[in-house]
Amino acid sequence: MTHLLHRSIHSAPRVARAATGIHITDAEGRAYIDASGGAAVSCLGHGHPDVLAALHEQLDKLAYAHTGFFTSDVAEELADRLVADAPSGLDHVYLVSGGSEAVEAALKMARQYFTETGQPQRRHIIARRQSYHGNTLGALAAGGNEWRRAQFKPLLMDAHHIAPCFAYREQMAGETDAEYATRAAGELEAKILELGPDTVCAFIAEPVVGATAGAVPSVGDYFKQIRAICDKYGVLLILDEVMCGMGRTGSLYACEQDGIVPDLLTIAKGLGGGYQPVGATLLSDRIYQAFAKGSGFFQHGHTYMGHPMAAAAALAVQKVITRDNLLGNVQAMGAHLRARLQASFGQHAHVGDIRGRGLFQAIELVADRDTKAPFDPARKLHARIKAEAMARGLMVYPMGGTIDGVRGDHVLLAPPFIVTKDNVDQIVGRLAEAVDAALVA
Ligand code: PMP
Repeated sequence: MTHLLHRSIHSAPRVARAATGIHITDAEGRAYIDASGGAAVSCLGHGHPDVLAALHEQLDKLAYAHTGFFTSDVAEELADRLVADAPSGLDHVYLVSGGSEAVEAALKMARQYFTETGQPQRRHIIARRQSYHGNTLGALAAGGNEWRRAQFKPLLMDAHHIAPCFAYREQMAGETDAEYATRAAGELEAKILELGPDTVCAFIAEPVVGATAGAVPSVGDYFKQIRAICDKYGVLLILDEVMCGMGRTGSLYACEQDGIVPDLLTIAKGLGGGYQPVGATLLSDRIYQAFAKGSGFFQHGHTYMGHPMAAAAALAVQKVITRDNLLGNVQAMGAHLRARLQASFGQHAHVGDIRGRGLFQAIELVADRDTKAPFDPARKLHARIKAEAMARGLMVYPMGGTIDGVRGDHVLLAPPFIVTKDNVDQIVGRLAEAVDAALVA
């Protein structure tokens, strides 16, 4: 009997007892390779001595001080570091406790920017289908994950959704990457014009889509065009890097690879690597100055924002990533992971697509490679793959197919940045067995 309300009421999860490096061990003593970093969280793996030491030290000094009264040295140092390493122009940091909170803050910052600058009619949020920005009501409204939204729709604020940039599913035969990027980005301009340019507040997107569609990067200069369209109509650009940011794709921020700087940028998961709940919203000086010259504050706040323990964890994680050149390892092991996936699944009759960047890679399963038809959702292939993988001591992050009726089941891999070639080979080997076992089950 459990008193915890778990994700699934009818199947109690295994009990995790201990974790070190890339492994988590359960109460029965079975070890699992954490090949998804939980949900792209555990970027340093588990039990990293430097992070543990930093947390112990911080706990001895100062566990908590409410931000209504104090800041803390550790939160200031983290903010300095994040700004120093962020794409230029993102000069201010708002520290929160997770991804959804970071997105809520970004949406409200965008709105307050316009109330402070005399454009209160700007209220519309535009986002993309097959996206995920969090489960709190504002973030859920912005997100385009129909399965997560459906029953809560009556509670959600209006948000407008355009097509994602999703080459495997939406690029037409014969269409070049450049043509497709222009067509997909053009949807944003069309939506802004439809709503009325001076009523649009912000556009939000994940540079590499994570939870909803499985490591989907954009093509061509899609995001450069998005940036230009936002600038043309005075719309703020929010990039949600909660899952794909903080080194996961091989650069600290995924948008560096797209060559653009957003007005607002959200991070979480890899920021604290799972050692503490922590997230952040980075904002441009322009937005900050609007608050500074206007009401003098951002009208928002949470009890645990800027938490010293969370800041200590994030600071320690980020220092290790730099000191050990782990972004270099993400690039090298990301390339190796991609090559191994290609070798194992490139010819597989039911793997339609292999995609991603860095150590953020996914495979999409389809019933028919030629037509790209997904499997019947009732088959719950993703859940079977997860179960078969767990039976083989492997944690992967699978997602159900046919949300919006347009894509298949997929499996996301997001292993810790410390993985070796041998680890990667073992991960792909076990995944190949799990996929085949799930397909015959
Ligand atoms: N945005 C993105 C892109 C995410 O992937 C997630 C979590 N999967 C969130 C926001 C929400 O983060 P959290 O679960 O920490 O609230």
